Amino acid sequence: MFAGEDTNNYFESGHSEQKKASSKIARFTLPKLPDHFSAWVDQHSFDVVTVCDLSGHLVYVSQSVSHVLGYSPEQLLGDFVLDYVSPTNQTEILSKIPIQTEASSRFHVSIRNHSGKFIWMETVIARLLHKDTNVDLYLCITRDITDKKEAEEMMIRSEKMSVSGQLAAGIAHEIRNPLTSLKGFVRLLQTGSEKKEDYFKIMIDEIEKMENITSELLFVAKPMTDDKANVRLSEMISDVITLLQPQANMQALELQVKLEHNPVLYCDKSQIKQVFINLIKNAIEAMDKSGVIRIESHIAQEQCHIDIIDEGPGIPLSIIHKVKEPFFTTKKDGTGLGLMICNQILEHHNGSLSIFQNAETSGSTFRVSLPVELL
Ligand code: ADP
Ligand code: MG
Repeated sequence: MFAGEDTNNYFESGHSEQKKASSKIARFTLPKLPDHFSAWVDQHSFDVVTVCDLSGHLVYVSQSVSHVLGYSPEQLLGDFVLDYVSPTNQTEILSKIPIQTEASSRFHVSIRNHSGKFIWMETVIARLLHKDTNVDLYLCITRDITDKKEAEEMMIRSEKMSVSGQLAAGIAHEIRNPLTSLKGFVRLLQTGSEKKEDYFKIMIDEIEKMENITSELLFVAKPMTDDKANVRLSEMISDVITLLQPQANMQALELQVKLEHNPVLYCDKSQIKQVFINLIKNAIEAMDKSGVIRIESHIAQEQCHIDIIDEGPGIPLSIIHKVKEPFFTTKKDGTGLGLMICNQILEHHNGSLSIFQNAETSGSTFRVSLPVELL
């Protein structure tokens, strides 16, 4: 006999199969949680449960809101729920609200707490029929994910710092040439040369080249923004090429761009540029001899597909399922965060990242797919 078997303690009686079965029945036949148990759950849950009517006004808020967001439920009742959502997040949230009964969706939302600070929360929302009144209501469960967001942001920041550090060497090299030519022209001007206007034009072109490269490098080191707008694909690709061309030049690699249609994408420019930087940088690192990296886009089924095609050795089948995992790397100085970040950014844009092995030539193709807004 086990200690505690003859007590009413459910956990201890778990040793006996018979007792376990009988207590299971007891649980299943329980009509519902006693009220004070439900009240305890309502009070202590890590999640906030809310119910809104179809116009978005709160008709129920769980007690847990007081420790999660600092409001009392009574304070919130009757309020318009979007008034608590960050203005930058509102349009996106509206597009995710389920329209049909029984439909549900899950998304991240930035919500203002009682002290006025916006915090990131994950919410799952369903539109359900309230049988007594025969009207639909929205039922939401919302959880604070600040810690998760901060950890993600830290990973992105460290990857961005690592990328900018790795690119700096190539860029310093690239800037030395225009600097040398500028010095030459200044010397010529000092001697009182006559072709001043021609020299000035070349000098300004060289300075602009350096300006573009350094501003792209600074851009990579900056934290990522989160505001979506309509951006031309060619604009983003050309910025990324400016940044990565020096690295490609050092390895005698050609970056060949062929964009069909040149669509406008509704996206956060800094995030999507980060995706292309990570993928083209991987392509450069995969090629140890000279060759061509192709960046090609086409549109199919309202999606814009942008392929980064390299001539490297390809990815061995044995590791292909792991490459998007955080910290997976086969490189001596790799962080293993590049593809994970690409995947995360693309998911956040309702897009995807697929990987193919090139059939005829060696190498891999990384395909970025994003919804096209307009042509
Ligand atoms: P890192 O570049 O720091 O290693 P990534 O997440 O960018 O991290 O890539 C993870 C791994 O995926 C790489 O270490 C490499 O093994 C593989 N990989 C990524 N891109 C390519 C590519 N174009 N060709 C071959 N292998 C690749
Ligand atoms: Mg990488």
